[in-house]
Amino acid sequence: MFFHNIELVKKGVLDGKIAYVGPEIAHISIYDFCNINCIMCWDHNPFQNPFEIYNRRKTWKILRFSTLKGLFDELQSLKTSTISLVGAGEPLLHPEIKKILIYLKSKGFNIAITTNGMLLKGELLEIIKDLPLNLKVSLHGGDFDTWKIVHPKLKRRHFNQLVKALKELSKRENISICFQNAISKANFRNVDKIIELAAEVGAREVSFHFVDIFEKIKFLKLEKEDMPVLRQSLEKGLEILKNSKIECNFESLMERTIEKEESSFSTKDFYYKNPCIIGWVYTVIISNGDVYSCCGSRYYLGNIHKESFQSIWNSENYQLFREKAKNICLSKKPIEKTPCWDCTMYNISKGYLEL
Ligand code: SF4
Repeated sequence: MFFHNIELVKKGVLDGKIAYVGPEIAHISIYDFCNINCIMCWDHNPFQNPFEIYNRRKTWKILRFSTLKGLFDELQSLKTSTISLVGAGEPLLHPEIKKILIYLKSKGFNIAITTNGMLLKGELLEIIKDLPLNLKVSLHGGDFDTWKIVHPKLKRRHFNQLVKALKELSKRENISICFQNAISKANFRNVDKIIELAAEVGAREVSFHFVDIFEKIKFLKLEKEDMPVLRQSLEKGLEILKNSKIECNFESLMERTIEKEESSFSTKDFYYKNPCIIGWVYTVIISNGDVYSCCGSRYYLGNIHKESFQSIWNSENYQLFREKAKNICLSKKPIEKTPCWDCTMYNISKGYLEL
C-alpha cells in the first residue's frame, strides 16, 4: 500500500490515539443487492430457501448518492486518496452508479471497484473507461467450465462478454485490472488457468485466498489430499508468471498455507510481535451507514446517518479502537468482534512497519 500522507500518519501512530489526517482508503459498501448467485457467497448463494431469501432481502440496504456525495466531500477534505466501492452485493448495480462514478472522478479520487463484471457494457463501460481505476474482478475461474461451476446461473455468452470487456479496459493506461479468486473445491485445479487468463486479458494482478466456509457450503472445503493437486496447479501458474509482469500473492499463499497442508492461516504470530495501524489509514462504511475499522470487523465506531464522518473519525470510540489495535502485540488478544487472528489486512500494517 502506498501512503500519501505518511508523516501525518506517523504522527498519529506515535500519539497512539488521534488521527491527524483522514483514512488513506475508504472502503464503502454501497449496495447489498446482487445480479448473480456465486456459490460461496454469504448473502446471495443459491442454496437458500425462499423463506431465507425473503428474510435476507429485508435487511439489504443502499447508500444513496445524496448521502455519498456529502461523505465524499468530507473524505476529500480529510485527504483520502482512494475510494473503494464494494458491496455485500454488486456495486455496479447501484441505481445511481453513473452519478457516483462521475462525481468521484470530478473530485480527483483514485477509484477501486470490486465487481463480478457482468455490467461492464454499454454506457457504464464507456464511463468506466475514463476513470482512474483499479478494477477488482471477482473471477474464481480461468475457463468457462470452472467459472460456470462458481456462477451456476450464467451462460457462456456472459463469460465471453466479460473477457471481451476486460481486454478493452486493460488497454487503458488509467485502468489496472486485478483478478480476485476465492479458492475452493470448485476451482482448486484451475489456478494456472486463472493466471493464464490474466495474462491473456492484460490484468496486472491476481490474488487468491481460501473460501470462507460456512454451514451451507461445507462441501467446498478443501481437504488435505487436495493440497498436492492445488500445489501442482500453482506451480504451473508460477511458470506463466515468470514470463509476465503480473503481480500475484502466489508465493505467500504457497508458503503460508500449502506447505502446512491446510487451507487456513492465522495472523496471530504476526500480531503477537507487531502493532496494527489500520485505524490511521483505512475505514469501512457499510450500506446502513455503520462505520468499522477494517474488513470483517463489527466493532461499532459510529454511523454516518447520525453524525459526520469527520466527527466519527476522531471520536473517543475510534481513538479507543486505535489504542487497542496499536497495543495488540502487548495485550495478545484480538479486538472484540474483529477477526484479528484471521486478518486479511495485515499487509497494511506490515507495509507501514517496513517503511
Ligand atoms: S482484523 Fe486485522 S486490521 Fe482489523 S483490527 Fe484486527 S488486526 Fe487490525
